[in-house]
Parts: sequence; C-alpha cells; structure tokens
Amino acid sequence: MRNSTREILQAAGKEIWQYAELNFADIEFSEEVVAACRANYCGNYNKCWQCPPNVGTLEELKAKYSKYPQAFVFTTKHEIEDCYDLEGMERARGEHEKTEDLIRPVLPKGSVMLGAGGCNVCKTCAYPAPCRFPEKAKSSVEACGINVVSLAKKVKINYTNGENTVTYFTLVFLGGNETE
Ligand code: SF4
Repeated sequence: MRNSTREILQAAGKEIWQYAELNFADIEFSEEVVAACRANYCGNYNKCWQCPPNVGTLEELKAKYSKYPQAFVFTTKHEIEDCYDLEGMERARGEHEKTEDLIRPVLPKGSVMLGAGGCNVCKTCAYPAPCRFPEKAKSSVEACGINVVSLAKKVKINYTNGENTVTYFTLVFLGGNETE
C-alpha cells in the first residue's frame, strides 16, 4: 500500500466505502462521456469554468493528467428514499464532499482532486467572467471525460451499491511519485 493511501484512509476514518490505488494507464478518457456532457442534461455545459468545453479538449485533458502517473479513487455510499429522492442525493453529495475535505490536507503536494458533479463553490458560476475562487474550484471525473463505469470495473469497486442508495466517486491524481 502506498504511504499516501495510508494517510488518506487514516484521515477519512470510516467515511470511505471503497477505494483503489491506480495508475494513469488504468483511466479511460472517452469521447462518449464528453458527448454526454455536450447533450447538456445537467444544464451546465459551457456555463462553468470547471465543465466542458471550458476544461479543455480530451487530448488536452489526457496530456494534463498523464503527468500524474499515480492516482487514488474512492467512493462513499449513502442511503436515499428512492431514485426520485433528489434532496437525499444532494444531501449525500454534501456528505461526500465533507469526506473530500477530510483527505485534502494529507494529499501529496500538487495533487488534483476530481469530484462528483460540477464545481459548486458558487451558487452560480462567474463564467465567462474570471473564476472567483480558482484555489477552491474543482472539476468532476465526468467533466474531464473520464469513464467512471470502466474505471470502477478496472479497479474492481462497485459503480452502484444497490437499491435506495447513491454512490459518489472522487478521483485524485497524486502529486509526487511513490514506489510501491
Ligand atoms: S469557484 Fe465559482 S466561479 Fe470558479 S469555477 Fe467554481 S463555481 Fe465557477
């Protein structure tokens, strides 16, 4: 186990449901994921600095993250009433983000965290005006064109965790390079 993994798990306590250490080569960047963003089901396409197309092209994203040979992915699992429980999903997302906050201080310097959903630091993104909080702004796994389903399969963690639950993913590209 990498030292960074040990420290992350210690910082997160029991909040992490599943996790995996992975390498850049395990991550599939997919045009299909970008196309789903372009379809704009969430309404954020071209409305936020941390969503497509403002995060860069797939090739640019691959080039950017290939500089981080090692990564760490974790999930949190939350009970909700049913698949229509949007309030429960939002509350769960908030809980997931609290886990991100717990691990942020122990991440190796220069690490980049990609969370669940778009950047929600501001109620409405300043785009196209300059980002208000560039040091806090955060993109998501999907917004960077990463196929979460294939990622979960590759590292053998569950994409979903059963009826009346919601699962959120965070992927961290780790600064530095530890030997394993
Ligand atoms: S921090 Fe605010 S302005 Fe910057 S990308 Fe996030 S939501 Fe937009």
